[in-house]
Amino acid sequence: MTESTSNASLSPKTYPCPECGKQTTWQDNKYKPFCSHHCKLIDLGAWANEDYTLPAESTPFSDEL
Ligand SMILES: [Zn+2]
Repeated sequence: MTESTSNASLSPKTYPCPECGKQTTWQDNKYKPFCSHHCKLIDLGAWANEDYTLPAESTPFSDEL
């Protein structure tokens, strides 16, 4: 284990946001691994849309008539 992190403070770790690709920092980022709340919502919406496909067969209003 010989790692010299003397200049770590000079170059904070950045990584591309998985959603928009924007370089963002990991430190003090409560939306990680995304760069912002916006990107986090986009990603959540992406998988939510795949799961929450509305069943077109069961239409409630046809039952009430
Ligand atoms: Zn982003």
